[in-house]
Amino acid sequence: MKIKILGTQSPYSTEGHNCPGYMITSGDTKIILDCGSGINSLLNFPNDLKDLNIIISHLHRDHYNDLFNLLYASFVFNKQGRLEKRINVYLPETPKLTYEDILSEKDSYAKYEVIAENKEIFINNIKITFSKNEHPVETYSIKITDGVQTIIYTSDTSYSSKDKIVQFSNKADVLISEASLLVSHGFPEICNHLTAKQAATIAKEANVKKLVLTHFWPEEELNNYYKEAKEVFDNVIVAKEKNEIEIE
Ligand SMILES: [Zn+2]
Ligand SMILES: [Zn+2]
Repeated sequence: MKIKILGTQSPYSTEGHNCPGYMITSGDTKIILDCGSGINSLLNFPNDLKDLNIIISHLHRDHYNDLFNLLYASFVFNKQGRLEKRINVYLPETPKLTYEDILSEKDSYAKYEVIAENKEIFINNIKITFSKNEHPVETYSIKITDGVQTIIYTSDTSYSSKDKIVQFSNKADVLISEASLLVSHGFPEICNHLTAKQAATIAKEANVKKLVLTHFWPEEELNNYYKEAKEVFDNVIVAKEKNEIEIE
């Protein structure tokens, strides 16, 4: 499997930095995890829309804003006869108004399916499962496995979900973890997001092979996230837009 980084920043995009998004590919299977603001600029239209699967981890703006434009593009390319199959969109069913807003988009060419804690999704040789996090809205960590390699995406989470995520991530090849905060920012240990240190602690306790940090505050130096995590966990990298991570 391969990961292409589409977006790493929150709550807004800046030049060269998009809100969260990750393209996972395995053979011909394409899965986009989250559609943050700006990620469409890194997609190859209309080819990437063909047989595309999109999973939205939670309905916070920084994770689904570009979905609307992508849906509209699917509508246009279908009208042009250049997109035959509907794109598959998997998403949580709350907050209800946001969910209904997305599904009520008429100018789109998509199918929708709800995700939940016990849900299993099979796409070709890929199995996808979910673990619910503590976060202000219904939010899931996502596990993607081809039976040999496993990728975990924490999405957004409070550290109060730590034990659950450690168990869910056990011995994964790659843990893509939010690291919105640094210890020096001075937030309480339990808040809505993780520090780089907390992300690294989860990686260490789950015994994953590689930690990929993401979901950065736009005004913060990226190297500070790296340094804080590196003190706890050795094999850590900072996600960067356009970078590709090949899993050995
Ligand atoms: Zn977020
Ligand atoms: Zn969030």
